[in-house]
Amino acid sequence: MIDSSLKDIAAALRAKRVSAVELATESLARIEAGNGRINAFVTTCRDSALKAAAEADARIAAGTAGPLTGIPLAHKDVFCTEGVLTTCGSKMLANFVSPYDAHVVSLLKQAGAVMVGKTNMDEFAMGSSNENSHSGPTRNPWNLDCVPGGSSGGSAAAIAARMVPIATGTDTGGSVRQPASFCGVTGIKPTYGTVSRYGMIAYASSLDQGGAFARSAEDCALLLSAMTGHDPRDSTSLERDAEDYSRDLDKPLAGLRIGLPKEFFADGMDDDVRAAVEAALAEYRKLGATTVEVSLPNARLAIPAYYVIAPAEASSNLSRFDGVRYGHRAAEYTDLNDMYCKSRAQGFGAEVKRRILVGTYVLSHGYYDAYYIKAQKLRRLIANDFAAAFQQCDVIAGPTAPTTAYALGAKTDDPVQMYLGDIYTVAVNLAGLPGLSHPAGFGKGGLPVGLQLIGNYFGEARLLGVAHQFQQATDWHARAPQA
Ligand code: GLN
Repeated sequence: MIDSSLKDIAAALRAKRVSAVELATESLARIEAGNGRINAFVTTCRDSALKAAAEADARIAAGTAGPLTGIPLAHKDVFCTEGVLTTCGSKMLANFVSPYDAHVVSLLKQAGAVMVGKTNMDEFAMGSSNENSHSGPTRNPWNLDCVPGGSSGGSAAAIAARMVPIATGTDTGGSVRQPASFCGVTGIKPTYGTVSRYGMIAYASSLDQGGAFARSAEDCALLLSAMTGHDPRDSTSLERDAEDYSRDLDKPLAGLRIGLPKEFFADGMDDDVRAAVEAALAEYRKLGATTVEVSLPNARLAIPAYYVIAPAEASSNLSRFDGVRYGHRAAEYTDLNDMYCKSRAQGFGAEVKRRILVGTYVLSHGYYDAYYIKAQKLRRLIANDFAAAFQQCDVIAGPTAPTTAYALGAKTDDPVQMYLGDIYTVAVNLAGLPGLSHPAGFGKGGLPVGLQLIGNYFGEARLLGVAHQFQQATDWHARAPQA
């Protein structure tokens, strides 16, 4: 049953053809059967899930259920969950049991969704392959020798492997869209400020945004609708009411203008990715959309700007992990300073340390203007490029990533190569725009290819509607990896 659409699952729940307890049991059984190979989950919550499922069944019986009541759900381990281990992929937090729920977690609890576990991720969401996790890498369900993408690779793999129908993620520079692309699922990151960051462990606060994973855009719309709305505990949470992101699902594509940034279609993407993306665009034209060339002249500067700003913010955010209040503390030390140093040296992995060093460097006296301020100026130019492009089109389309999923270990020795894989996604975060990735076909070795759709501010309902229309006409999103 958990392979059905959320609409069908909800109808089955209402008709008593299935119970929430049965759904949770099915989801937990699949996790138990597949997680040894895939490592998508770092924690499962059998007892609390079955209890929440029983409560959901009571709500369904009482007629007070919503669209997510009784639906099994996974949270990326970056979200604080009361009474449940919240490791953020790090040894630093390997023993951290959160005393409170993130805003997103409480909203989904209120909606009656049943959390079955927490998903694997790159340490502190820094990475593009899930190989930076203290819990070991997640494997791609389409090919276990390949990475699932990152940093929300556990959530994307859990959806692809049909362990849960919906999962949360976060996207600072592509961490929802790129793993969605690598795992052949749908993922959306909304406009910055739409999803509260309260209780979402901070990486780069001006870029971090919660997002939604599901097999289809239709299901993503239901999940995202339950995750948003103003939260006074996050100072960047926008004072807007929660929205119904399903409202544009049935809107036809006739008249839709899709902008194709010429910089995204120049050299850089693999041939198999290009072929799938071109075929998907041809399908969009068949459905009545028109395509126009647009330009994002500063897009090539997105990687250098992002990899200055994100580490700068990370170096500040991660200073709280000092071994004093929570998380890892070194067993032996001579004085307070030695305790800080040893705890951090032992608790953080190599990539996190690299970013703390880079971030501290670009913020230091004498380098601040040359690097950090320069990157902030580029950020403005990149946002201006998007504003100009949206004068000519309604949505922007292109590849989500330049490649399909690559072999585990292929890029771990070359961080710059790894960073370059984020070329199509990071500009969207720098500008604060909404972005979505949906399955668009398959490339070499039968690995999924994602198409990225970028919207103007608050354009997420339209993005989901556009993807839904595509998914009504194609079945890429419905394909499942071999069991
Ligand atoms: N791959 C990018 C990084 O390593 C983005 C990660 C993210 O979106 N959390 O920073």
